[in-house]
Amino acid sequence: MKIAIIAHDGKKAEMVQFLTNHIGVLKQKDIDLIATGTTGSHVERAGLVVERLLSGPIGGDAQIASQCATGQVDMVFFFRDPLDKHPHEPDINMLMRICDVHNVPLATNPASAEYMLKGLLTNATV
Ligand code: PGA
Repeated sequence: MKIAIIAHDGKKAEMVQFLTNHIGVLKQKDIDLIATGTTGSHVERAGLVVERLLSGPIGGDAQIASQCATGQVDMVFFFRDPLDKHPHEPDINMLMRICDVHNVPLATNPASAEYMLKGLLTNATV
């Protein structure tokens, strides 16, 4: 199980809070984390081991999209800031599109990410 983590600047604090609240689940041996560069440094400070890719605006979102397209990422937590402009908007849209193309679960806010983690834990079929 590999989870990709991305948070825009206005959402990084929320991401750290979310990860801290769920650190027990996320520290399980069979969960690998990857993140865009700056988000990754916050994830590390939250006490988690993470593979850091490029920063989002210089290609990190694209790297994560590539891993989603090739089946290497199982779920994406992408806390977007809908109230800010982003120079890499095309990459953001591309990542979300690739998740939809390949049916990769994508949470764009903490409430959705929470349900996805709960789903992981229960492993229930609906
Ligand atoms: P960052 O990238 O983690 O390097 O800040 C996130 C993004 O803006 O896509």
